[in-house]
Amino acid sequence: MKNIKDYDLQELKQELTNIGEKPFRAEQIFKWLYQEKVKSFDEMTNLSLELREKLKQNYTICNFNILRKQESKDGTIKYLFDVLDGNAIETVLMSYHHGYSICISSQIGCKMGCKFCASTGINFIRSLTSGEIVEQILLVEQDTGVRISNVVFMGIGEPLDNYENVVNAIRIINNPKGLNIGARHISISTSGLVPKIYKLAEENIQCTLSISLHATNNEKRSSMMPVNNTYPIEELMKACKDYIEKTHRRISFEYALAKDNNDNLEDAKELVKLLKGMLCHVNLIPINKIENGAFDKSSNENIMKFRDYLNDHGIVATIRRELGSDIDAACGQLRRKNLKQ
Ligand code: SAH
Repeated sequence: MKNIKDYDLQELKQELTNIGEKPFRAEQIFKWLYQEKVKSFDEMTNLSLELREKLKQNYTICNFNILRKQESKDGTIKYLFDVLDGNAIETVLMSYHHGYSICISSQIGCKMGCKFCASTGINFIRSLTSGEIVEQILLVEQDTGVRISNVVFMGIGEPLDNYENVVNAIRIINNPKGLNIGARHISISTSGLVPKIYKLAEENIQCTLSISLHATNNEKRSSMMPVNNTYPIEELMKACKDYIEKTHRRISFEYALAKDNNDNLEDAKELVKLLKGMLCHVNLIPINKIENGAFDKSSNENIMKFRDYLNDHGIVATIRRELGSDIDAACGQLRRKNLKQ
């Protein structure tokens, strides 16, 4: 049986029609699931008993369990969720002056193999369904009582490697009758799956695209990110330009600074050359050293020099605030868990 949270509103209307019900029931169910945040069909009290029974026979409602909750001294909260198949994933809630952001996972494990990231050193298990992606937001809102205003697909997994489910989840997150979070407040971060970037440009979604660039030439980028061997920088930049042209949305380039690797002024110069004239923004991330990781964090002085060089040469750059590193909740530190081990 399929999890009822796997359907976006349009699909749920179709599902209900298929079982002989009126499509407006889908809107009622959406309201129960995403606004009232109920955990069972029995709580959907404006549906007839008969319909509730029918729903129970046809669908499940997947509710994750919270296995662990850790709070950082900066207020960041990391959750370990039991996804009910023997695996667990991590989700992070961050508090900013403009509201709450949630960093969600899209897969259990990751295939990309980036050399600096802890999410990928372990075997890939499977992609999350749309309902499982949405569930992370639902459960965190439920548990904390806060209203989440920003969603970033920057947890475990490569979102564009789980394209259909991620796009479907965004439709649920974005729907005014769903979680009602504006598309402009949703960011997808990708290691650079070029064909999927072209595809995303064709969807009518106003979400923000973040590209994990991290290096400006193929030799260096391939040494950090194996995906670059398949989709080299020239092809990636072509896809980014197409995305900007089609969506008129500014792209955010993520650049994790690793000491003596990609953090000197020569790199900054190359980055300016690469991005000059593009509608974009650079997000500099002080790299978080992971266990057995090959890269060390750049000095604060180098990070600031790098940022200033970009800003002085016409590229808007900011340094990402490091949140949650004391509880291994910062960029690149999330891991899937196998509950049977
Ligand atoms: N798979 C997606 C989302 C992953 S994480 C992607 O690759 O974009 C979000 C960001 O954190 C990415 O830019 C990723 O490259 C970066 N990141 C991963 N490990 C990191 C680390 N150890 N330190 C700093 N940033 C890291």
